[in-house]
Amino acid sequence: MRIFKGIAASDGVAKGKALVHHSAAVAAEKRHILADGVEEELSKFREAVTTARDHLQEHYNSGITKESKDILETHLMMLEDPEYIDQIEKYITTNLVCSQWAIESVTTDMVALLKQTGDEMLSERALDVQDISMHLMDAIKGEGGKQMSDLDGDVILVADSLMPSELFSMDKTHILGISLDGGGRTSHVAILVRAFNIPTVLAAGGASKTVKDGDEIIIDGSYGEVYIRPDLTVAQMLDERFALWQEHEAELQKMVKLPTVMTDGHSMQLKANIQTCIEVGAVQECGASGIGLFRSEFLFMESLELPSEERQFNAYKQVLESMSPKPVTIRTIDIGGDKIVSGLGIDEENPVLGWRAVRFCLSRKDIFTVQLRALLRASVYGKLQIMFPMISGIEELNAVLHLFEHVKDDCRREQIPFDPDIKVGSMIEVPSAALCADILAKKVDFFSIGTNDLIQYTIAVDRGNEKIAYLYQPFHPGVLRSIQMIVEKAHQNNIPVSLCGEMASDPLCSVLLAGMGMDELSMGSQSLLQVRKLLRSVSYEEAQGLAQQVLKMDSYLAINTFIREWMYDRFDHFTTI
Ligand code: PEP
Ligand code: MG
Repeated sequence: MRIFKGIAASDGVAKGKALVHHSAAVAAEKRHILADGVEEELSKFREAVTTARDHLQEHYNSGITKESKDILETHLMMLEDPEYIDQIEKYITTNLVCSQWAIESVTTDMVALLKQTGDEMLSERALDVQDISMHLMDAIKGEGGKQMSDLDGDVILVADSLMPSELFSMDKTHILGISLDGGGRTSHVAILVRAFNIPTVLAAGGASKTVKDGDEIIIDGSYGEVYIRPDLTVAQMLDERFALWQEHEAELQKMVKLPTVMTDGHSMQLKANIQTCIEVGAVQECGASGIGLFRSEFLFMESLELPSEERQFNAYKQVLESMSPKPVTIRTIDIGGDKIVSGLGIDEENPVLGWRAVRFCLSRKDIFTVQLRALLRASVYGKLQIMFPMISGIEELNAVLHLFEHVKDDCRREQIPFDPDIKVGSMIEVPSAALCADILAKKVDFFSIGTNDLIQYTIAVDRGNEKIAYLYQPFHPGVLRSIQMIVEKAHQNNIPVSLCGEMASDPLCSVLLAGMGMDELSMGSQSLLQVRKLLRSVSYEEAQGLAQQVLKMDSYLAINTFIREWMYDRFDHFTTI
């Protein structure tokens, strides 16, 4: 038996057979071959080309849309392209290296060359080259045949890392649990596994290098533990632990119909975060008072082509109608960072500080306008609120609001009905926006604090990097002071403030946030009842007292210990793990 300890990312215990997956994002290793091994390497490479072609052809014939077919046709043509394929073969022969290294080297050079031209068409071709190289890599690693989108049995997925778009394309009905070698608790892939209710452990060291396909494995997503080839006593211990956890979950169901009112009558709004329309059922089941964050960019990852106005309209309408009369806050697309949508030319050295969210939208107004029109059209089917991500200052906010008014004018001219009273908000997740909260507050109807990014940018710590996860501290005085200032400025300007980052769902944070004056918390529906139970068992006065003490403290270590002790005195073990 081997045990790996990592980050508890999504609750629950899962048992099953391992399926090892190597992420497309992992770089190839340079392996030298002998001169008399060249023929063998070339035939391995040619076999990979055939496998990749069969795989693409199969996908082409699987009833996909015309746009997806066009993209696949280009990819199929490129697999015949002597310029690319011959160059790889030549690279293997002259440099005596393995196929993977040759694919990576030729692809990198070709992509750089195409991008240097500055020509838009050729830059798009660079993306096609990258896509094709990934298909070839998968085929070489033997994953071309292992269709993650079409698994034929239940598995525990064990991977080095995973991109949100990769998870999206997988058949999640057969993924019982996930172990990743890397990742952080607030990375988008972690947010998605929680939304899909897949028990998951992140930063599980080298689990993917130790486990083999078909090994027995148990994932404990609540304690952050991965057991490879577990012995009987451990399996029994985990069964008992899981049974207790299920009892605790069942107990929480009593909270579904109750309001979130603290013991002295102070009430809070608890809303849910969603990534896809199918999550609306879970939102209704947990009794949320609305949707506080719909991450609309995930609609853009569901297929190979950009969603049309009609497709977006139908998705927004469906969510608004199902939730009506409760409010739904849809965030305009936050593409970029770790949320890559293929075909948009987002491939940057430093994506988190780069062409992301409203920065992307303001330079691709063609794409942004389609979304704003779809939102306006859908607004008559429920209570829509719109918010904009990654606002860094007033110029950006003004530009976005200006464009929104322009799209409204178009709709009026075309006699397209829309709700004239849609509330608009700014996300506050960039430190400059937090510092200018008083300025921004005068322009919008509400704020929503995105602490996942606010923490990342305030402490300068990548939210997805397990090596520095110890620095990612919600209780850092710099973060707490920033939140306090945002709340203060919002209230001075008579607008409400919500918090929709993962901090809202962390039981250690929710009482503190209530005490800091937050009007609303928005979180994954799987956490909402726990937070409601907590808030219903303390008074607002106690929460304010806690906030006052914590805001005087000078280190996150001290704050962490202080809050844990405060919680241990009042709540059960499951609330504080
Ligand atoms: C945040 O940054 O806290 C947030 C809610 O947005 P996302 O997690 O999608 O970046
Ligand atoms: Mg964010």
